[in-house]
Amino acid sequence: MKKLTVIIVAAFAMLLSSCAPQTASTSFFAMDTVMSVTAVGSNDDLQACIQEVLRLENLFTVTKKDSDIARINASGTATVSADTLLLINTAKALSAKTEGAFDISVYPAVKLWGFTSDEKHIPTAEQISAMLPFIGYEKIKVDGNAVSVGENMALDLGGIAKGYCSDRIVQILTERGVTSAIISLGGNVYALGTKPNGEPWTVAIQDPNDRSKAIGNINVIDKAVITSGGYNRFFEIDGREYCHILDPATGKPAENGLISVTVVGNNGAEADALSTALYVMGTDKAVRFAVDEELDVILVTEDGRLIISDSLFDSFEASDGYEIERISEAA
Ligand code: AMP
Ligand code: MG
Repeated sequence: MKKLTVIIVAAFAMLLSSCAPQTASTSFFAMDTVMSVTAVGSNDDLQACIQEVLRLENLFTVTKKDSDIARINASGTATVSADTLLLINTAKALSAKTEGAFDISVYPAVKLWGFTSDEKHIPTAEQISAMLPFIGYEKIKVDGNAVSVGENMALDLGGIAKGYCSDRIVQILTERGVTSAIISLGGNVYALGTKPNGEPWTVAIQDPNDRSKAIGNINVIDKAVITSGGYNRFFEIDGREYCHILDPATGKPAENGLISVTVVGNNGAEADALSTALYVMGTDKAVRFAVDEELDVILVTEDGRLIISDSLFDSFEASDGYEIERISEAA
């Protein structure tokens, strides 16, 4: 009798586990950051995501010798893959829309400040003004699948590539029938569908002044939640911080009053580029741009303001001690 009970209990447990959705999780290092994917799916689904990220990393990474971008930078012109072409065209369109605040031709400045090496330093004013003429998205030419840039120009997809990767992962998972997943590519999050229990995904927004804390949580379904922050990568000299987001107009780290910009949207590449652009624009311009373009944003200013789009008001829960300002009141 006891044996029979054990068999029945075991069979019942097996039945239950076969009904429960299978969740798989993976974490890996790519594009200079830790990435993770948790999906209601199989390990094969996750492997397909990792393979895709590694494929894109080989196309986009500026420091990988044979990447599409490295080949453009080495000889001024190169034939590139469909993904690189799409991303360069998207980047160019977003540069025009943001009046050059986002500009993938900012690479000469990134290099001059040493952000791609271990030797970060402050260039002289002469070095900066000699480099500035080499920045300018208008001089990126696309002809079929050939991309060319002006003399001494160079491209860097670092401000948009991770957002694009999240879009591709979502596409791959969707094609494989996965309807619920949370993807985090070094802080660039994409929430696919809902949590397995049907509730929206909750994404914490880091406090730029204390990374162990969150300024609040946002509840989302089928959205990219992408944050640009100077605190993510910077160096310090004589007590002053120099961040990796550069203002293409000045060739210097952006310092226009914002310390964190989160963009919430359907398209990861666009949200990624726009979060970088708004960071460069600074508080006043970013507020104006977000209102005019009906962009969903969460902005944190240097002087402690937390400004959020009215449309996000109901889905954002501020942590204790943080006060929210509606963007319509800040505009
Ligand atoms: P993100 O973390 O998405 O804001 O992107 C920052 C990265 O994009 C930097 O590490 C640079 O590689 C690159 N970048 C810096 N400034 C800009 C800019 N104004 N426009 C486009 N890319 C930029
Ligand atoms: Mg970005």
